[in-house]
Amino acid sequence: MAQYAKPVARLVEELAKLPGIGPKTAQRLAFYIIGGTLEDAHNLAVAITEAKEKIGYCSQCFNLTDKDPCTICDSPSRDASMICVVEEPRDVVALERTREFKGLYHVLHGAISPMEGIGPGDLRIRELLQRLNESVKEVVVATDPNVEGEATAMYLARMIKPLGVKVTRMAHGMPVGGDLEYVDEVTLTKAYEGRREL
Ligand code: ZN
Repeated sequence: MAQYAKPVARLVEELAKLPGIGPKTAQRLAFYIIGGTLEDAHNLAVAITEAKEKIGYCSQCFNLTDKDPCTICDSPSRDASMICVVEEPRDVVALERTREFKGLYHVLHGAISPMEGIGPGDLRIRELLQRLNESVKEVVVATDPNVEGEATAMYLARMIKPLGVKVTRMAHGMPVGGDLEYVDEVTLTKAYEGRREL
């Protein structure tokens, strides 16, 4: 990157660290930012820093939040008898868009993957089990429909069923090998409605 002035090179370098941003896109974004107003550049920088400083994990569901417990856990209108288990915070966003699920969430922050050396102890599974009191009637497992997601669903069913809590799995219409966050709302709604017991 010797062809850039140092500050430009640094900006390109930082942008290129983001997922899905290759060197070409990083360069395009950098020139876009530099070509814009100082105010826009400042707003972007502040938004990034503020999000990082003010956002943490909810101590109950481990979703991203700026207050603890988060607005979903704290809402009296949510059905506390159902907990939907997802891999990532972005999956909560996808499911909330469907407006179908009225219960609470639990974010695992990953899935079981022996290949990558990720075991149950690396996920928020212990915290999930601790949430299962008498008022919880059903756990809906909405992990991704791929090998890791299935392995995680099976493990959860094995751990939770003996506690007398119903465990269901989102099923119909989910593309196998897919990623939950990219599934459209209609398909997600159908998958939720068609969940089967594990
Ligand atoms: Zn929460």
